[in-house]
Amino acid sequence: MSEFSLITQYFTRPSPNADLGVGDDAALIQISTGHQLAVSADMLISGTHFLPDCPAYSVGWKSLAVNISDMAAMGASPKWATLAISLPEVDHAWLSEFSKGFFACAEQFNVSLIGGDTTRGPLSISVQIMGEIPFNQALQRDGAQLNDDIWVSGTVGEAALGLKVLQGQLNLSSEENAKCIDALQRPEPRVSLGLALRNLAHSAIDISDGLLADLGHILEKSKLGAKLDWEAIPKFHASHTIDEQILKSATLAGGDDYELCFTAPSSAYDEIKKIGARLNLSLSRIGTTDNSGKIQVLDQHQNDIYIERTGYDHFN
Ligand code: ADP
Ligand code: MG
Repeated sequence: MSEFSLITQYFTRPSPNADLGVGDDAALIQISTGHQLAVSADMLISGTHFLPDCPAYSVGWKSLAVNISDMAAMGASPKWATLAISLPEVDHAWLSEFSKGFFACAEQFNVSLIGGDTTRGPLSISVQIMGEIPFNQALQRDGAQLNDDIWVSGTVGEAALGLKVLQGQLNLSSEENAKCIDALQRPEPRVSLGLALRNLAHSAIDISDGLLADLGHILEKSKLGAKLDWEAIPKFHASHTIDEQILKSATLAGGDDYELCFTAPSSAYDEIKKIGARLNLSLSRIGTTDNSGKIQVLDQHQNDIYIERTGYDHFN
């Protein structure tokens, strides 16, 4: 099969958001008047970002979903994507499932695949996402203010628990195993939440590296510290007790959840709760920003919860 018939068969679909999509030397797009273009890229390498035996559908879904999540975190509407992929061989079963997963995600979030590149090499996938946002409405990491409430969507730690299940280091009920693996392999980017938070949240980030690490980025850029309430953090509740250290580290430092962490003035509390109800998405207030210069996580007795983790040097 030629490179071009491969592109036609697996990567060419109607692209309603573009004037010209896949098939020429470049795609042509227009951005809406009064909007800024939001651009981001994320790479997925087999063995590093997904296990080599991860179902191809999930690899396709996730490679786009993690990029869309960056648009959500900015409060941008995702619209266009490009896909650069290197493949060790033409494996039709794999490509067919990969493209199904990729386009399922594209359709759900109204993203058009408008171009890319296809080469032979070790399996690696690089997606660039583009979206748009009305001028000056982006949710940036540097916008948090003193005494902001800190919020998180959904549940954190599920994806990290899913990885432990796949690695044979954790075994929950079969339903719970499946739920956590699903969180790892099929993350749901929080696009509607990002849009709803425009003009309401002061800052936002998506949780790709772990709650404390990613909140740490907001705090560093905004020159603030924070106090978090362990009890308020929406964690995974299993039917059997999970080892406390595993749960703490998955919840506070587990990556790959793609929930949004954001800060907002306390006056926005009711509005944020209404957004959660409208989107049928739990939104939890987990703490407040302060000027302590560090992140503290406190249990119900106001004792520090300590977890070992890397990438947290700025505040230690
Ligand atoms: P060029 O040689 O001009 O770079 P290519 O032959 O690499 O063009 O690609 C032909 C067309 O197919 C281009 O429009 C390119 O954007 C698109 N394309 C190539 N690979 C992919 C892919 N994996 N997904 C989507 N579009 C692709
Ligand atoms: Mg060309």
